[in-house]
This record gives sequence, structure tokens and C-alpha cells, in this order.
Amino acid sequence: MSATADDVGGPAKPLLTIKGLIKHFPLKKDPLGRGGGVVRAVDGVDFEVLKGETLGVVGESGCGKSTTARLLMQLIEPTAGEVIFDGRAVGSRDLPLKEFRRQVQMVFQDSYASLNPRLTIEHSIAFGPQVHGVPTREAVQRARDLLARVGLEPRRFAERYPHELSGGQRQRVNIARALALQPRMVILDEAVSALDKSVEAQVLNLLLDLKDEFGLTYVFISHDLHVVRYVSDRVMVMYLGQVAEVGPSDVLFDTPAHPYTRALLSSMPSMDPDHRTEVAPLAGDPPNPINPPSGCRFHPRCAQAAPVCSQQLPVVASAGTHHTVRCLMHVPGSGHPQALAAAA
Ligand code: SF4
Repeated sequence: MSATADDVGGPAKPLLTIKGLIKHFPLKKDPLGRGGGVVRAVDGVDFEVLKGETLGVVGESGCGKSTTARLLMQLIEPTAGEVIFDGRAVGSRDLPLKEFRRQVQMVFQDSYASLNPRLTIEHSIAFGPQVHGVPTREAVQRARDLLARVGLEPRRFAERYPHELSGGQRQRVNIARALALQPRMVILDEAVSALDKSVEAQVLNLLLDLKDEFGLTYVFISHDLHVVRYVSDRVMVMYLGQVAEVGPSDVLFDTPAHPYTRALLSSMPSMDPDHRTEVAPLAGDPPNPINPPSGCRFHPRCAQAAPVCSQQLPVVASAGTHHTVRCLMHVPGSGHPQALAAAA
């Protein structure tokens, strides 16, 4: 990717670094003083997003992937943790929130709710640049150029209102709106999940073209593993508010290291009738994030669980080049029967 004027750290520095991110939502007590506690939606998450890559984020609903996205965007306040963008702490004097929000944009699943129903789509797209000081005439011209770029002929679409468009067309408008501030990173939170399969493929291909054209970096959050495999350079698997595994997409899909990733992948619907799964590989719902299991959070559902798994929280271990996993089988000397002995 070519360096942009905003690139202060050079191509080798990660665009986004997340350190020790935690979000606990406190629960109210009832009138008798019972209850309370916290929902541990995100509970100690560290990861990096490299410049020019697409990082896929997967996990069952409730694993914390969407809360993580909202924390990245600073839409909600973290309980603890740091968000560093191109070497600068977000919200610091070096990188005020307004400047960060120009450089990082988000596209949500619900294409209709993201648009103001009273604004024409041209004005919806031009609104962000105007707020950031771009003169109206230039902002409107930028909106028209982007409409054309996302495949919506400006003469036909610029004056329409959101309710006059299909879901796929509205999502193209949302993508144009995200790009109107000329961001460096776009967070796509289930951005194609509500679309029909044929429209989904068109929007995915559009996203890949725009990424190359504008030198973008994507965080692509989805429950659909086929789609994540198609678009991602690396994939991060989340389970109950923590990162279970991160690795290059082809490595993670071909040789997953974490039992949870293996279970998720074997639950992917196969197009091949000879390879249909008869038994659900991942039984039951994820445990309650109010009182997560002790030790490894996956132990109540893990086919490889050993007694040590309920006592010891796994540290992050290497599973190969650029491939990390949080499982005691990969921690030498952990006491798991399948772990290597500790080095003498
Ligand atoms: Fe399974 Fe134990 Fe590894 Fe957790 S630490 S994933 S319970 S083997």
C-alpha cells in the first residue's frame, strides 16, 4: 500500500494496536438488593491491525466482536485498555477524537437505520465532509463521485431518499458515506449479512476493489465464515470476550489450533453432500458472560478439556509463524496431557 499524507509511522507500524481492552457492563440490583455484578462483554483483548490488510473477526453471537468494534470506534467508553492508531493514543493531544473519527469509519448491518430518512442520499454522503469543514459544493461533488464509484448513477440516485432504494443499494450508499471522509480504516460490522447472496457477492467485490483503489485497511466482522475466508488476510477468533486464536486466513482455516476454532469450522455448512456434518460439533450455547467459567472459558464445551483447563487461564502461545492461540495444549509444561513438557 502506498503511504498517505496521514501515515506517520510508515508501512511497518501497525495501523491499529489494541492493548488490554476491557468492557464490563454493570448490572442493576433489584429492589431487594439482589443481582448486580457485571457483564464481561470484552475481557482483556489485545491485537493489531496491519496497514493495508483485512482482519476478519469471527465468533458466535455474544462473543464480544461487535462490542470490540464499538470500542475501537470510541462509540462506547472502555472500562480499561488502550487504542493506539498509527503509533498515537486515540483521544490524546497527538490524535484528538475528531481527527481519529475522520480516519476510521464504520459500516453497520442495518443499512436503513444508518441513514437519515429525511436526507437525500447525496446529502447523507456529503454531510460528514461538511461537518469536517469541506465547503458544500465540494462535499456534494465528492458525494456524486462516490455514488458513481459504488455503482449508483448520480443522475438517477442522488436525489432519492433511503426508502426509495433496495437494501443492496442502501448499503452501497453507506459505503460511499464511510469513504466520503477519505478514511484510512473501515470497520465493517456484519456489513453484508442482511443482503441476498447475489447482492452480497457484488458488495463484497466492490469492497475489495475500493480497498485497493483507496489503500484502505479493513476490520471485517462477520458470523459467516465463508465470507470471512474470502475477504480476510488474517482472522481473529473470539470466544466469550477474549481472543481464542489469531492467524493468517489460509493457515487458520486449513490448520486451526484452538479446539473452538476447529468446532466453528466444522459447523460451516458444506456445499458437498458427501461432507455434510451429521452431529452438531459445537453443543449448547456459550456460557453466561456474567459469570464466565474459571480457567479456560471454553472448557465446559471443549472435547479436549483436561482437569487443568478449569483451573488455569491459558496464556497466549505460539502456534506457528504469525499464529497465536490461547489454549493450554500449546503451552509447554501447562499440565495438559497433550502439552509438551516445559523446557529444562
Ligand atoms: Fe480446551 Fe483446555 Fe485448550 Fe481450553 S485450554 S481450549 S479447555 S484444551
